[in-house]
Amino acid sequence: MAGDENVRVSKKLDFNTFEFEFENLHYAEGRGRTYVIFDVKPQSEGGRGERLWGYVRNNPLDDHAEVILMSKINDHLETHQGNYTMTWYMSWSPCGNCSSELVPWLQNLLEEQQHTLTMYFSRIYDKDRAVDHRGLCDLQHVVSNGFQMGVMGQTEVDTCLAEYVEASGCPPLKWLHMTDSNATQTQDKLSSILMNRF
Ligand SMILES: [Zn+2]
Repeated sequence: MAGDENVRVSKKLDFNTFEFEFENLHYAEGRGRTYVIFDVKPQSEGGRGERLWGYVRNNPLDDHAEVILMSKINDHLETHQGNYTMTWYMSWSPCGNCSSELVPWLQNLLEEQQHTLTMYFSRIYDKDRAVDHRGLCDLQHVVSNGFQMGVMGQTEVDTCLAEYVEASGCPPLKWLHMTDSNATQTQDKLSSILMNRF
C-alpha cells in the first residue's frame, strides 16, 4: 500500500519527536511534517474487532498523513469488522485538500456504520490560508455525536505521554507549562475561523 512505510503500528512515538512536532506554538518554525498518533479501538471489550494504534507521518513528496491513515483504517475495517471508537492526535490540523477527502470519508464512516472519531490538533494549518480555513469549516459541518474535533490541551498531551509516547525516564516536556495557554489562543483562532462560515 502506498505510504505504508510512514505508518508505525503498535509503536509509541519517541519523546524527542513528540516534543518537537507537537509543540503548540502559534508560529512553529521548521515543522514541515505532520504526525498523527491514532487509536482505533473496538467499542465493546471482547466484542468484534481488533485494536489498531500507532502513528503515521506524511511523506513530504507524496501523501499527507491523513490520506495515508484513512487508507490504513479502511484496510483494517475491511479485514476486522466491528464498531470502533477512533481518536487522532495531530500535530497540524488537516489542510484544505485533506479536509475535502476527510469529509466524504467521515460521512461514510458515520452514516453507514457505527464508528466514532475524535480529532485533536496541536496547531492550525495553515494559520492564514483561506483554502485550509474553508476545509476546517467543511469538517465542522460533519461534527455530530459521531465526529468531534478540537484543539489539543494539556489533558490530551498527558494522554499522549501516558499511552502513545516513549516517555519513561524522560524529563518533563519543555513546553508543558505553556500548553493550555497556547491551546486557548489556538482555540480562539479556530473559533474565529469557524465563525466565518465559508
Ligand atoms: Zn493535508
